Amino acid sequence: MAETDSRPTNFIRQIVDKDLQSGLHQSICTRFPPEPNGYLHIGHAKSICLNFGIAEDYQGTCNLRFDDTNPEKEDIDFVNSIKNDVHWLGFEWNGAERYSSNYFDQLHGYAVELIQKGLAYVDFSNQDDMREMRGTLTQPGKHSPYRDTSVETNLTEFAKMTAGEYTEGHCVLRAKIDMASAFMCMRDPVIYRIRFAHHHQTGDKWCVYPMYDFTHCISDAIEGITHSLCTLEFQDNRRLYDWVIENITIEAKPRQYEFSRLNLEYTVLSKRKLIQLVDEKQVSGWDDPRMPTIAGLRRRGYTPASVVEFCKRIGVTKMDNMVEMSMLEACIREDLNESANRAMAVLDPVKIVIENYPEGQTEQLQAANHPNDETKGSRILPFGKQVLIEAEDFREEANKKFKRLVLGKEVRLRNAYVIKAERVEKDEQGEVKTIYCTYDADTLGKDPADGRKVKGVIHWVSAEHGIPAEIRLYDRLFTVPNPAAQEDFLATINPQSLVVKNGVVEPNLQHAEVGQAVQFERTGYFCKDKDSQPDHLVFNRTVGLRDTWAKIGD
Ligand code: ATP
Ligand code: MG
Repeated sequence: MAETDSRPTNFIRQIVDKDLQSGLHQSICTRFPPEPNGYLHIGHAKSICLNFGIAEDYQGTCNLRFDDTNPEKEDIDFVNSIKNDVHWLGFEWNGAERYSSNYFDQLHGYAVELIQKGLAYVDFSNQDDMREMRGTLTQPGKHSPYRDTSVETNLTEFAKMTAGEYTEGHCVLRAKIDMASAFMCMRDPVIYRIRFAHHHQTGDKWCVYPMYDFTHCISDAIEGITHSLCTLEFQDNRRLYDWVIENITIEAKPRQYEFSRLNLEYTVLSKRKLIQLVDEKQVSGWDDPRMPTIAGLRRRGYTPASVVEFCKRIGVTKMDNMVEMSMLEACIREDLNESANRAMAVLDPVKIVIENYPEGQTEQLQAANHPNDETKGSRILPFGKQVLIEAEDFREEANKKFKRLVLGKEVRLRNAYVIKAERVEKDEQGEVKTIYCTYDADTLGKDPADGRKVKGVIHWVSAEHGIPAEIRLYDRLFTVPNPAAQEDFLATINPQSLVVKNGVVEPNLQHAEVGQAVQFERTGYFCKDKDSQPDHLVFNRTVGLRDTWAKIGD
């Protein structure tokens, strides 16, 4: 596809450039740190492209690290889906994937170090009291009665916590920083809590788990990450990040830089909301083609190149904004316009009988697979006396703007002949059932000999040879640009986000592979869905055609 400048520039790359020039770093190491508590979405793709892209362009490395400090919400299925999605996007992480849980021993050691330095204490206050003592944005917090417990006692108590002698919630380990700080995260944050939970990596080894803020910075430092890139909501937490790194004995001093999250119109990108969509069965699963997940986009027919290109186009800044869905759609359209073979499929079939066509005859017509790429070759289209066309491509009467089939007028069947509608047969409801036509046998691959002008071209499928197919027309999942801003985002789900058609596709598609992209001429880009069976094809609409295409005939 037509790519924008292959090497993007942004404020983070400028920082990297500067750090290399000044000699602060000789090489660059980044990481992508997902929590394995859901599937990756297009917002994560932005972070993946940034982290892996920088590593690639600066000959550095990028780690894949699962931030797995919440055992109850995590799952090995999520781990596997995330690895799969990162690979699918075309990125390779440095060595094996890592887990924060790989560092639980070291993290525990650093917690002990903080206690020894008088910088952490075990707090037995109950949760309500702790919340009370935290203060508010306008009022400083109060010191916990446990804040000045001796180092020895704290060491003993933390050892007891670790040994499983206390119940969940009975006490926590807190960093001793500043209860009057303007940054709430600095008001003696909890760094360890008790959880009697089975962990997907460490099993039942631990009953104390480190908190995210404590874990993340130390994991970065252990891995020698030079630039720790995260989204803006962690801006305040940078104080805590730096405080921890400053106060423990560790060589590397990674720096955190924040950029704005991707927000995309007509969808939601909060994992909590995505989980809700799945759990409440509003969609068929994480890979429902309407989901903004990587798995959903893939099943919908998006290519890795289109997602990566989208991430390039949106860029990386500190500005919060909402990206138009049409920008994502443009990326896949541009890609598929070049790469997808053409085919014909009729979504709402109506039958045509060509009365002057020889009974029982079948012709094998040839059609190019791609209008501007001869290397893609051609295919055979069987043609016979009965063909199916799109119901909306026929009108009994119409003005000149309607360049399709009209009673008494001519139109070209794409890759085939010019036909003329002679009369129609209707059912009791008055719906057109059959259109009787004649054809001009001298118009295959050429204009009518007498100079008649036939402007319209419509697509068709041989009634005898076409294969019935379930065609799933997907649209935006929500009816409003910013569903997350609604009181009840589920109330704005688009009831038309999935419309199923019983269509007919040309026989060549019988052997299409799952995921294989194809342009159904005049109707859009589609791909074969994994729900397909040998006797039941299913196609997903990835995206409609460019407006200029859609205008044909109207
Ligand atoms: P949520 O807030 O929906 O729970 P998360 O940010 O907690 O998502 P993580 O698995 O922690 O999800 O994210 C991994 C990385 O991806 C983090 O560095 C995070 O900043 C980044 N990320 C998550 N969502 C977006 C987004 N919408 N745009 C850009 N980066 C994102
Ligand atoms: Mg997170």
